[in-house]
Amino acid sequence: MNNIYLGSHINLSAPDYYLGTVRDALQMNENCFMFYTGAPQNTIRKPTNQLKIDEGRKLLLESGINESKIVIHAPYIINLANTTNVKTRELAISFLKEELKRANDFHVKTLVLHPGSHVGVGLEIGIKAIIDGLNEVLNHDTSEVRIALETMAGKGSEVGANFADLKKIIDGVNKKDRVGVCLDTCHINDAGYDVSDIDNVLNQFDQIIGLDKLLVIHINDSINNKGAHKDRHANIGVGLIGFNTLCQYVHHPRLMDIPKILETPWINEKPPYKEEIEMLRSKKFNPDWAYKL
Ligand code: FE
Ligand code: FE
Ligand code: ZN
Repeated sequence: MNNIYLGSHINLSAPDYYLGTVRDALQMNENCFMFYTGAPQNTIRKPTNQLKIDEGRKLLLESGINESKIVIHAPYIINLANTTNVKTRELAISFLKEELKRANDFHVKTLVLHPGSHVGVGLEIGIKAIIDGLNEVLNHDTSEVRIALETMAGKGSEVGANFADLKKIIDGVNKKDRVGVCLDTCHINDAGYDVSDIDNVLNQFDQIIGLDKLLVIHINDSINNKGAHKDRHANIGVGLIGFNTLCQYVHHPRLMDIPKILETPWINEKPPYKEEIEMLRSKKFNPDWAYKL
């Protein structure tokens, strides 16, 4: 097989932590994956020396998974753009400083971050707050971990629903080599991009931001129409984006080497990723796959 890196979001949980995460990835035939360093919805984190990192990495290296394709996602509640609640923004900054250190402890090089929501004060102020926050976070950090700002659906007051806003943020960051972008197919659809015209999407991305800044791709179908500003993920091939379009993102020659991560909903309390990855790799949609779960 060629260098298509395809995996999913996987939990990091007791008792095996990172060892369990790597084991789950291998069981689902993934050659890259994404995890949260604890619960996605809160900022409580265990010290990394309790997370079985060495055991997980040992299994990783034996398995042949390329460690540079593994991704961490920061929790949803981190909001660098919130200028109305000082505590929220301070928590975002202090958490991210620690999260970069944790990522470095995992030997992970990429941290996906939702840019934030300006909570009503306006896009320009939100963007400035994100830039200032990122500069504060990165200023004294000596690791090589890169922050990948995720393209957002534009729900509520979310910043980052178009490529130009993300470019503005990157332009304001002092350490530009430490920031990039994570493109989410569901989010850009919901934000109003025509996902099905992949070459147009990639050309726009390249002209505005530069394809060299594209660090991660989230492969998700969407429950909603283009421009709905909703952010509800659908399983592969059963949403309004559809299987053929998602397949194009997985196999596009300009996107080789970029880790591609599924964040589709579980079915019958089971992760659907093994089946979804198999379909995407083989470019064959099997309408019965969900019944196997
Ligand atoms: Fe995300
Ligand atoms: Fe995503
Ligand atoms: Zn989403």
